[in-house]
Amino acid sequence: MDNIIVLRYGELYLKGKNRGFFERLLIGNIKSKLEKFKCELICHRGRYEVVGYKKEDEPRIVSALKTVFGLKSLSVAQKVPSDLGVMSDMISKRLPEKGSFKIETHRADKTFPLTSPQVSAAIGEKIIEENSDLNVDLHDPDIIVNVDIREDKSTYIYTKKEECVGGMPVGCAGKGLLMLSGGIDSPVSGYMLAKRGLSLDAIHFHSYPYTSEQAKDKVIELAKIMSDYCGHMNLIIVPFTKIQEAIHEKCNSEFMITIVRRFMMRIAEKVAFFRDCGCIVNGESLGQVASQTLQSITVTNDVVKSMPVFRPLIGMDKQEIIDISLKIGTYETSILPYEDCCTVFMPESPVTKPTIVRAENEERKMGNFEKLIEEALDNLEIIKV
Ligand code: ATP
Ligand code: MG
Repeated sequence: MDNIIVLRYGELYLKGKNRGFFERLLIGNIKSKLEKFKCELICHRGRYEVVGYKKEDEPRIVSALKTVFGLKSLSVAQKVPSDLGVMSDMISKRLPEKGSFKIETHRADKTFPLTSPQVSAAIGEKIIEENSDLNVDLHDPDIIVNVDIREDKSTYIYTKKEECVGGMPVGCAGKGLLMLSGGIDSPVSGYMLAKRGLSLDAIHFHSYPYTSEQAKDKVIELAKIMSDYCGHMNLIIVPFTKIQEAIHEKCNSEFMITIVRRFMMRIAEKVAFFRDCGCIVNGESLGQVASQTLQSITVTNDVVKSMPVFRPLIGMDKQEIIDISLKIGTYETSILPYEDCCTVFMPESPVTKPTIVRAENEERKMGNFEKLIEEALDNLEIIKV
């Protein structure tokens, strides 16, 4: 009997009438992950099966499925008819020649004539009758075999339930615009909200020649790594040099970072609007640096009027963020030593407690900055990732 992969979904269970909408998205996302393999997805109520794949593709299929938000766990299993004799024969074949084992039965099919404990006992007895080198140990077995009797008269047999990423299918929560720098934090913040079902476009502010082509390539690479989890995204590169030069020239240098941030936010809001994004996402974490104090966040947030700015990392420690970046594979790229535009023209001691009034006064020194914003918006580069 061929292996199959059983997929289980998580929170979607909680959805009432519109569960169909969530399931359709999830199925679509799974199918696009499986596109490059020869296999078939069979959808039952509450669970799915991947069948008909080549055994050698199994590890790669499993890895790919572990990046799909909305899936809670999976098991490589054998599917057999719900018949005690067939089940125990299959289990006998899977067990090692000697040692201890335990059968754990789950019975979704309540019409099956034995209860779950009775099934476990019957299979256990039959196996040890046929092989005296095996014994049942309910407390500390070498191997646990799961027997999952389904409503459709078939039974899954498996020994491992592997955790998947959980969350909600990408796309079910609409679209957001991720402010993607080359650092460790912003890719993680995008990942966290993709996990809650947001599909993403990303915006990156690039100050060539102060920041290099490599810095830009690094961001493209980060977006590519993230797209494993987050799906395809458009990466929008904003030419930011002139704006930074104007701020540097006209404003008090202590306010450089505050005002740079406000310009990023203004442009992000406009781009988000035109690209049908309902929110902005960034990687700020409270108190991590001068630009992320409560006062700094208040002053940068103030320029965004029409949509929420989500900061999923706001309460996280740096190490917690690093742990996630290691898990999703962005860390090694994030630590490559290319400069970010935030370091261009930065003063030794930026203000940590700016006010909106002071920031506005500094910006007034720049005259009609809307023109600069328009010019940047006219020269966006859009990269499909
Ligand atoms: P990260 O690790 O994400 O770069 P950080 O700890 O370096 O964050 P900052 O440089 O203060 O912190 O940036 C805070 C947030 O502002 C970033 O997480 C990102 O969302 C956004 N940001 C910073 N620089 C850029 C940029 N060049 N392009 C787009 N977004 C940016
Ligand atoms: Mg940074």
